[in-house]
Amino acid sequence: MQKLIITAAVVGGELTRKETPYLPITPQEIANEVYLAWQAGASIAHIHARQQDGSPTQDRTIYAEIIREIQERCDIIIQVSSGGSTWMSAEERLDPVTLSPEMATLTSGTVNFGRDVFMNSPEMLDTFAKKMQTYGVAPEFEIFEVGMVENALSLAKRGLVTGHLHFDFVLGVPGAMPATAKNLLHMIDLLPQDATWTVAGIGRFELPMATLGITLGGHVRVGFEDNIYYRRGQLAKSNAELVERVVRLAGELQREIASPTEARQILGLPRSRS
Ligand code: ZN
Repeated sequence: MQKLIITAAVVGGELTRKETPYLPITPQEIANEVYLAWQAGASIAHIHARQQDGSPTQDRTIYAEIIREIQERCDIIIQVSSGGSTWMSAEERLDPVTLSPEMATLTSGTVNFGRDVFMNSPEMLDTFAKKMQTYGVAPEFEIFEVGMVENALSLAKRGLVTGHLHFDFVLGVPGAMPATAKNLLHMIDLLPQDATWTVAGIGRFELPMATLGITLGGHVRVGFEDNIYYRRGQLAKSNAELVERVVRLAGELQREIASPTEARQILGLPRSRS
């Protein structure tokens, strides 16, 4: 099996300090959280940005500050969100992609998201893919429902995404696909043989899905964006705590952890060739 790539989704676009006082908000706080997660074993940082009052923003200047702060601290792969929050316009969501980060998420279809609708029309998918191509950004397909796999493959078939294909199965969002082993296995079956995948289980499903990711040869995403608890009724005090647990599990299951450099090779990111 490949070495395990751990993504730390440290902030998200929905969570507030009411849910957890440990949520990082300023660029410095976000970069520190990423740094600790990197020290714990994460090789990709999935980031969102916040305004000073904590509200989510896709403002590229704030993303630029976060990225600068992270790069001063470590060599983790930076993956910006192009999802933002469900009410944002496509143009707004794409703003951080224009900074040419190594990776960005590309949500591959429309889905109910709690009480909201997360809109990603066919036209938007094309626009997002083209924008990422223009700025040399590798997409990670965010898959909330099974039909989204086909949508992503269609982008590749039509040349709007080229190179290595990497998927993130986000399972257990209320309104979307439940986090079950059967659902995960079915989606893995739909991927081309050389594609790679990560699994992110939401809330209490984070840990069982991470364990499946490790044992099935996939990769794992954890972090406050997906889950704020270490165990039932006990908040995780940092994203690093959640990463450390995955590292311990992987150790017991004899799966080695990928460094950022090794993750770049596995994912075929351009920087691995320079
Ligand atoms: Zn996100």
